[in-house]
Amino acid sequence: MPELEINKETNPFDAMVARFDVAAKKLNLDEGLYQVLITPDREIGVALPVQMDNGKLQVFKGYRVQHNLARGPAKGGIRFAPDITLDEIRALAAWMTWKCAVVNIPFGGAKGGIICDPKTLSLGELERITRRYTASLIDILGPDRDVPAPDVNTDERVMAWIMDTYSMHVRHTVTGVVTGKPLDLGGSVGRVEATGRGCKIVTDRAISRFNMKRENTRVIIQGFGNVGSMASRAFYEAGYSVIGVSDVYGGLFNPLGLNITKLLNHIKEAKTVVGFPDAEPIDGKTLLEQECDVLVPAATENQITSQNADRIQAKIICEGANGPTTAQADEILYDKKIFIIPDILANAGGVTVSYFEWVQDRMGYFWNLRTVNERLQEIMDNSFDAVVAYADRHNVNMRIAAYMLAIDRVAYTTRERGIYA
Ligand code: NAD
Repeated sequence: MPELEINKETNPFDAMVARFDVAAKKLNLDEGLYQVLITPDREIGVALPVQMDNGKLQVFKGYRVQHNLARGPAKGGIRFAPDITLDEIRALAAWMTWKCAVVNIPFGGAKGGIICDPKTLSLGELERITRRYTASLIDILGPDRDVPAPDVNTDERVMAWIMDTYSMHVRHTVTGVVTGKPLDLGGSVGRVEATGRGCKIVTDRAISRFNMKRENTRVIIQGFGNVGSMASRAFYEAGYSVIGVSDVYGGLFNPLGLNITKLLNHIKEAKTVVGFPDAEPIDGKTLLEQECDVLVPAATENQITSQNADRIQAKIICEGANGPTTAQADEILYDKKIFIIPDILANAGGVTVSYFEWVQDRMGYFWNLRTVNERLQEIMDNSFDAVVAYADRHNVNMRIAAYMLAIDRVAYTTRERGIYA
């Protein structure tokens, strides 16, 4: 395929708009409301001068996009990566708006990113970059304004730095300014596992539609970071057979099933799945194309494209990552009758427990794990059923149904609030 076309296919904002357009048409959304809902509310780029360990000054580029605030404060992760683009952050912010609406929690959507390669940075450099980014955005952040969370290459330590920097500026401790914090700093039990656990919950729902049993269901998971590792554990503990996993360094395959407890121990030392003894090594791309029942792309965008969709052999795809499948690939997968649990539903467990964390911070009263997990289960089950009901009623696929449900909710709120002029 010519480079221009593949670039167009893999532009995340175009991918979001392609689905939005189909859903908006089905909903007969009027042109004015279409423009309101598609246009990001606020896009901010910041230059971050940072003193490096070698004494030199280096300027990093950071972004925060707030896509839509109709239903509540902006909510969305912050990622650190060398290849971040504004279009990617824009798309991810919009996906957050739709995701929060699909699971019906009172947030709008946002996303942030800093162009950097965390692998080459010391802890001190990462901390200074994070604190400078927070200070640059101080006026738009806050528990009632915009509440970041972890995403690719950011974790609870980064959230602690953001919380501390924000609190220093406003002169009192504000735990609710970020979610995904360490437990002792106002974090919630169950948050680290939430996205992976949510993937398992919606997959349970999907396999029961097809009368499949967990013990006969073979799962392949791409990505072994927060989402992939926690999803592997949730599937494994529930009795699924996890036959393949991968990370950026390579993959593992064992048709008889991997022992995920042992693999998680291996990871603690090795920091990669590679080298785990009880499995065959496999190239990450080839792993995606192996026969399995459930494929969970949980790494990054554009992993299933028009170039490989035809070779995917899964019955169900549960999108742990955001935007792992391009719009062109969708068509091929739907022709192959693969059941897709779309990202804005499948990985919404994370933002759901982030919402619980924000609620607990604001109450100053913390729930136990059983309460968190029961409430997560209820929201994920109900959301899955709501999307299926939309798909059946409007005769559309799961992805378009999820978009329709979300757009309908945000459009409703926008109409009810009216346009301030
Ligand atoms: P992470 O940084 O913890 O992990 C990413 C993992 O993907 C790593 O194991 C990395 O090695 C692997 N990876 C990267 N490129 C790969 C490739 N080409 N092939 C195989 N593995 C590859 O990030 P995360 O928080 O787990 O996020 C993963 C995805 O899930 C992202 O799309 C993110 O936006 C989405 N997501 C995360 C959360 C959350 O709560 N963390 C919630 C919703 C969605």
